Amino acid sequence: MSTRRKFLQHSLAGSAAILTGEQLFAGSASRPAVTGKPNHPIVISTWDFGQAANAAAWKILSANGRSLDAVEQGVWVPEADESNQSVGYGGLPDRDGRVTLDACIMDELYNCGSVMCLEHIKHPISVARLVMEKTPHVILTGEGALRFALANGFKKENLLTPSSEKAWKEWMKEAKYNPEANIENRLYDKKTDPMPGGKDNHDTIGMLAIDGRGMMSGACTTSGLAYKMQGRVGDSPVIGAGLYVDNEVGGATATGVGEEVIRIVGAHLIVELMRQGAKPEQACRDAVQRIIKRNPSKAKEVQVGFLALNKQGEYGAYCLQKGFTFSVKSNKEDKVYNSKSIY
Ligand code: ASP
Repeated sequence: MSTRRKFLQHSLAGSAAILTGEQLFAGSASRPAVTGKPNHPIVISTWDFGQAANAAAWKILSANGRSLDAVEQGVWVPEADESNQSVGYGGLPDRDGRVTLDACIMDELYNCGSVMCLEHIKHPISVARLVMEKTPHVILTGEGALRFALANGFKKENLLTPSSEKAWKEWMKEAKYNPEANIENRLYDKKTDPMPGGKDNHDTIGMLAIDGRGMMSGACTTSGLAYKMQGRVGDSPVIGAGLYVDNEVGGATATGVGEEVIRIVGAHLIVELMRQGAKPEQACRDAVQRIIKRNPSKAKEVQVGFLALNKQGEYGAYCLQKGFTFSVKSNKEDKVYNSKSIY
């Protein structure tokens, strides 16, 4: 054995005792062990409203379709659902009463497309896909994104529904901006609770899918934080923050206060931790811990949830506060889970 290899072995063995899991993963070069037959096709998504989105994605996956089509058509469901006030049509507006949407999409070849602060288009995810497929760029924003969408046949629509307008006008009375954490272990009841997460003013659909050929894609779409400043962009359309897919390793997506996710480039961090050997849940936990490390008192007040899927079709999630849920659909199950949380 070469002296250098011996040295590396000794220093790794010596440091294992004092390094945390996260540090250890960062220093290791091994890939996750492939055990058994990969679990695909599979689709997972954030929140309990992800279950309906998964069902739409499953139609494509179960017919041998491509994961990119599955995630796009999957997230169309909450984008078009007017009772979901955190994604697409019917989303809560910014503080000036404008519904501005953020979305991104990524395929198995690192191709990606994103739109930021897009108004008047019901399905921003499809505009993001078009940016990916029809332009030499990755991101289009605001007015330029809208012009691109209209030039490509998208319809200009009013996305501010009467109930979102009413909520905004109510908010305007005090105009106090304070993103609240999600209510403990609460499952979303569409009939009694038009706002997923109760009094929360944010949520996002992030979706990851592996198709029958073992190809992974992801999509992430949101109206962002309610009553945000005009022009504010969250993590959701930022490749690497709200979404990242590496077909050799896996993918990750995020929901919650986007500023916290962007600061640690959450989704990319999770994928890299999985590349170093972490299972999805452990990688999500380490990312959440990094948010806490940056600002422990802030982390107690806000919600961030991460969701990850590895190449083998294993999934996991972790969040700051209790209350984050995620949905899974495969040949084996169709379920909503409560994510583990730090607090
Ligand atoms: N991450 C989104 C944003 O910051 C909101 C959310 O998922 O709750 O815009």
